[in-house]
Amino acid sequence: MTLRIAVGGFMHESHSFAPRPTRYIDFVLPGGFPRLTVGAGLFDAVRGTSVPIAGAIDAAVGVDLVPLAWCFANPAGPVQDEAFERISALIIAELSRALDAGPLDGIYLDLHGAAVADSFPDMEGELLRRVRAVVGDLPLTISLDPHCNLTPKMVALCDALVPFRTYPHIDMRAAGAQAMRLLLERIKRGKKWARAFRQVDYWIALPMQCTMMSPMLDVMDERTRLAGGVTELAYCFGFPYADFHDCGVALAAYADTQAEADAAADAFKAFIDAREATFQCAIEDAAISVTKAIAIAATASRPVVIADTQDNPGGGGHGDTTGLLGELIRQAAKGAVLALINDSEAANACHAAGQGARIALALGGKSDGVPLAVDALVLKLTDGNFVNTGPMGKGNPADLGPCALIEAGGVRVIVVSRKTQAYDQALFRHVGIEPSECRILVLKSSVHFRADFQPIAEAVLVAAAPGPVVADPAILPFQNLRPGLRLRPLDNR
Ligand SMILES: [Zn+2]
Repeated sequence: MTLRIAVGGFMHESHSFAPRPTRYIDFVLPGGFPRLTVGAGLFDAVRGTSVPIAGAIDAAVGVDLVPLAWCFANPAGPVQDEAFERISALIIAELSRALDAGPLDGIYLDLHGAAVADSFPDMEGELLRRVRAVVGDLPLTISLDPHCNLTPKMVALCDALVPFRTYPHIDMRAAGAQAMRLLLERIKRGKKWARAFRQVDYWIALPMQCTMMSPMLDVMDERTRLAGGVTELAYCFGFPYADFHDCGVALAAYADTQAEADAAADAFKAFIDAREATFQCAIEDAAISVTKAIAIAATASRPVVIADTQDNPGGGGHGDTTGLLGELIRQAAKGAVLALINDSEAANACHAAGQGARIALALGGKSDGVPLAVDALVLKLTDGNFVNTGPMGKGNPADLGPCALIEAGGVRVIVVSRKTQAYDQALFRHVGIEPSECRILVLKSSVHFRADFQPIAEAVLVAAAPGPVVADPAILPFQNLRPGLRLRPLDNR
């Protein structure tokens, strides 16, 4: 008999101290990802994109799939209650309709896992509670972003969960596919797996979570080794900017017996605990990074990349702080290109002035009150529509609204109207710039940029300039974290 499985998703990574909240409209018009879609349109919206549900759909061979609703919004402040209530109501309404049409065999949900709604700090836990209230014990698996803050409630309410194994996230579809395969296996075996959940007592800063290098590379190798003995060993790196009880690094193991699940979870946690010192993070001031980049670029044949990690739009930054731009202009970093400044007012002013015009702009700084006054030459205007091409976002629509390439103080700047993380070379090509031919590329990104830009880079520098995605989250005014959690590795406070 053909299995009937409902699929949907609701993805957000919430930064409790980000300058802007996350509104309903941010799910309707996200930059760089498919838009909020409900019902049958879901399949078309995600086909050919890199999002997890696209992989889950491909893996559901011979299954009658019932589309619920799916959405994504770029990381920012907590999800407003209006957005959470409306979108979860869409998912539940479609689920109810699906049940009216006939029984379901299972549910797959594409969740991020680090969403905080105003009234529900564990937003995914609340969404899963609502889904469970409708479907009871039905087999249910989820895929997650490894930046999730995995909670006991999330683990309790689903049958298995699969986070991506990479940061930069180049395996989103693979994680969705694996969650679907586990769902099919769960339906076939007719009973739950034993599960073990563990929380790690220290935080790992974003720049240190990159799986392309040690120490995270070694941890992921060990995960692969231990995962061979169990059904799933889920490692969640955590998103250390969410101010709620269960924020942080966690893992979950699934196996046939409790002893097997516990053994894998304990062995893996011991491996992570033993490496605490190696996860300490230090990054240099933007002024130093710019000086170094200019020196390296003087003799390099390839671009020097500077990551503006603390204003990463993929971590909750608004993508509009101007600290690095100011430093590039001050040090006359000729040939540098900055991607991006998220400022719809400035982009619209450029469109009104026209290509070739010279205009005065108070550029960026809408989120922190520190715009940069520049005399800008409008080099190129676009509608912000292009398709990403890199290893992480291939096939995803950009949809950035009116955009402009300007030159200010000898530095070129891509100005956009809807934020996206600068992790894809297509962002440059859509304004007519070949990134590999630039001297210095400045990217608002923490780690994701490495997938598409490290291969073309002479050197990569990570710089500290103003923004909320601080490399040391311990400096933020947290109030709701669990006791005993170390906000920095080896921190004794
Ligand atoms: Zn992530």
